[in-house]
Amino acid sequence: MTKTVALFHPDQAYLNQLLPQFQEKLPDHQIIAWSADCSADYLMTWKPDPKIFHTPNVKVFFALGAGIDAFLNDPNFPKEMPIVRLEEAGMGPQMLEFALYAILHYSRDMVALNQGQRDKVWLGSSTPKKLPFTTKVGILGLGQLGGFIAESLAGLGYPVSGYSNSPKDLKGINCYHGDELPQLLANSEVLINLLPLTPHTENILNAELFAQLPKGAYLVNLARGKHLVEADLTAALDSGKLSGAFLDVYRVEPLPTTHPFWSDTRITMTPHLAAITVQSEAVRQISQNILAFEAGKPMTGLVDRTRGY
Ligand code: NAP
Repeated sequence: MTKTVALFHPDQAYLNQLLPQFQEKLPDHQIIAWSADCSADYLMTWKPDPKIFHTPNVKVFFALGAGIDAFLNDPNFPKEMPIVRLEEAGMGPQMLEFALYAILHYSRDMVALNQGQRDKVWLGSSTPKKLPFTTKVGILGLGQLGGFIAESLAGLGYPVSGYSNSPKDLKGINCYHGDELPQLLANSEVLINLLPLTPHTENILNAELFAQLPKGAYLVNLARGKHLVEADLTAALDSGKLSGAFLDVYRVEPLPTTHPFWSDTRITMTPHLAAITVQSEAVRQISQNILAFEAGKPMTGLVDRTRGY
């Protein structure tokens, strides 16, 4: 019997782009836009929406993104439903460019130079904070994205350390795990967060963690806003413990216009776009997973719900 794949997305134009791409990759499947009266074997969406959670017949949920915390944190999301996320899927190079930009912001002392521009002060004789490619970079999370940027930055010559749940052995990278977080922090002039948001990692970027970084370190949060205790960041900037921060994600998105971060010149902000889903890669990966599932083979990116990522 023909299997049905339903897509849910609030933006009809986005949906219109995706539907024919899935149909091309899965010619023997029926590909439809989700509707309130539909039933489907597979359902995919970017963000969770309770109205689609109990669509009849669904065997697997596919997320059109890498992070699935919003699904697992939604009390309406069915407890037993398998959920599959995107793995890298073209986001690695985007994340790498962002990380590199943030590192350069620190190593080229752009916080001070931008202030000089605002104050109309010529800082031409000031020397860069660091020699090229010598900034010590620490990466929280050595998964699909953290692992990719760790190896790429090490390839450029940066001294890179990384932190994960399980032990890792990555070429050219000081790998730490478990209770070795203090070693990573002591070696992180720029700390880049690429952890998934789970009950274990929520609020991990806090005063206690900042205290273990070298004085004047730079924080880069590219993962989730709820990793960061915002008041602790402001206090660490005020005390000089941190010299600046680069934030792509926030506890509340879009960030309310009244939020103090908007006018804090020590913080560089972007609106959650460090790495966006590459449609062709998402279609390829999800289609392959559907075919693997039907052949009784393992799917890549299947979320471990007890682990939370
Ligand atoms: P991933 O492949 O699941 O990797 C997660 C990494 O974090 C793994 O190395 C894992 O360790 C480690 N980890 C998890 N919990 C930990 C803990 N409690 N202590 C220490 N290490 C822990 O995830 P990913 O695909 O790289 O994505 C990471 C996150 O990036 C996503 O969850 C999402 O929130 C965010 N993201 C943001 C954007 C953006 O535009 N800003 C775009 C895409 C993704 P093990 O390897 O040992 O399991």
